Amino acid sequence: MNMNLGEKIKKMRIGQGLTQAELAKRIGTTNRAVSKWENGLSYPSYPNLVRLSHTLGLSQEIYTEGKKQTEKPTGMRSLRELYKAGCGPSSSHTMGPEKICLYAREKYSRADAFSVTLYGSLAKTGMGHGTDRVIRRILGENTAIHPDYETQKVHPNTMEITAWKDNTAVGSVRACSVGGGDIEIEGALQPPIYVYEHTSFARIAAYCRQHAMPLYAYAEEREGRGLTAYLLDMWKTMQSCIRRGLSAEGILPGGLGIERKAKYLYGQHHMDESAQTKENRIVCAYAFAVGEENAAGGRVVTAPTCGAAGVVPAVLYYFREKNGFRDEDIIHAMETGGIIGNLIKTNASISGAECGCQAEIGSACAMAAAALGELLHLTVDQIEYAAEIALEHHLGLTCDPVCGLVQIPCIERNAVAAMRAINAVTLANFLSETRKISLDSVIRTMKETGDDISGRYKETGEGGLPRTGIRKCNEKPLSAYAIFGRKKEICKGLGIFTKKMLKIIELY
Ligand code: SF4
Repeated sequence: MNMNLGEKIKKMRIGQGLTQAELAKRIGTTNRAVSKWENGLSYPSYPNLVRLSHTLGLSQEIYTEGKKQTEKPTGMRSLRELYKAGCGPSSSHTMGPEKICLYAREKYSRADAFSVTLYGSLAKTGMGHGTDRVIRRILGENTAIHPDYETQKVHPNTMEITAWKDNTAVGSVRACSVGGGDIEIEGALQPPIYVYEHTSFARIAAYCRQHAMPLYAYAEEREGRGLTAYLLDMWKTMQSCIRRGLSAEGILPGGLGIERKAKYLYGQHHMDESAQTKENRIVCAYAFAVGEENAAGGRVVTAPTCGAAGVVPAVLYYFREKNGFRDEDIIHAMETGGIIGNLIKTNASISGAECGCQAEIGSACAMAAAALGELLHLTVDQIEYAAEIALEHHLGLTCDPVCGLVQIPCIERNAVAAMRAINAVTLANFLSETRKISLDSVIRTMKETGDDISGRYKETGEGGLPRTGIRKCNEKPLSAYAIFGRKKEICKGLGIFTKKMLKIIELY
């Protein structure tokens, strides 16, 4: 733990005449947590760093002073904040910025123009993810967007919006898109509302055993009656997304020339196709359908993010068709999967920009495994094991979308993770007695791994698959590839691709 940060928090707090309790109330934590930070016994989480920065005016350098999160979370938020319907392709790059822009437009409704500065991951991959399209749709087509690649902010997805009237700046909004479509706006911070007091699987499982209740009943007890109606709505959105994706054809937007494949996969029939191969093909088709809809900017449900939105619906939709489960069963499965997603979101992260793809696809796989475990009436222990297997085998997975688009490798990753979730449930069904690792410890490991992964592999487009030149991908010539389809020779003839870029394109 970095003592300097604790001392700074204390100095700024006292300078503003706040007691520890008052500061804790403003940022939605306990005075015990503030005391621990000030005494160097723990380190604030990302969201609390953001709130501290906004409340006390601490500069962004606090982020660089240390990254390890040791603070224990004080509760978990509603599943309504995990499953959210919105337009893709990215919960942090389109859904979050959309909310921030709507807030700014409402706050400065008399402004005649806006300008926007993007930082961190939003600057580096925002254009590919469609952040610019969302900003201009809401704030106006002439909005100036400036990506700042250098300045480090507290959160990697930070943006500043300046409102203008008659060429004079009349106000600004600084905000972070903190993952899963959630945002934190400076000066408008609300203390988080925790509906779950338990923040570890061990404690939730103990409570469920003590009260002889399944995991889904625990969620319903905490959240009240409205939860099932809300989740039914989300389930309907997931289903219509799969149906739309299965009937759509053509090239996905963005310039990579990626063809939609869900319909093709779904329609294939091989004479000798085994039941296992058919299951794989159909589950993958469903995951592709959602992934492609998301990439095309369609309406999806974050589960837990847009980029990983295909895993949970693919598994649930397939088993609903295969076993004839009722909507009620599916809702129970979503509740159980949601508890797992919530635990990961609370104790680690569901943001690729923060912890890499293990936090998005890994979390989605764990949610899907737990949800399927619930559908198939596995015990609480078996469900834990299924989720643990699913997350464990995504540890270290980097976030490296080519050209910042949520297409390569994201769409295929959804399909692979959906199959892995089914395998995890099969293993858990037979082997849960022999397991040695708990879900809680894998979640902690995922956070530690994410902290240690280089920023080059966290949705910045600087390492991994896109290393051949994200800037070039955003330039007009790449669209030529989309126009000419797979005729690479023509593109080569135009001399607009580097060798490495062509190699990547050939792979897909
Ligand atoms: S690589 Fe994974 S984390 Fe990164 S955008 Fe794609 S799905 Fe999301």
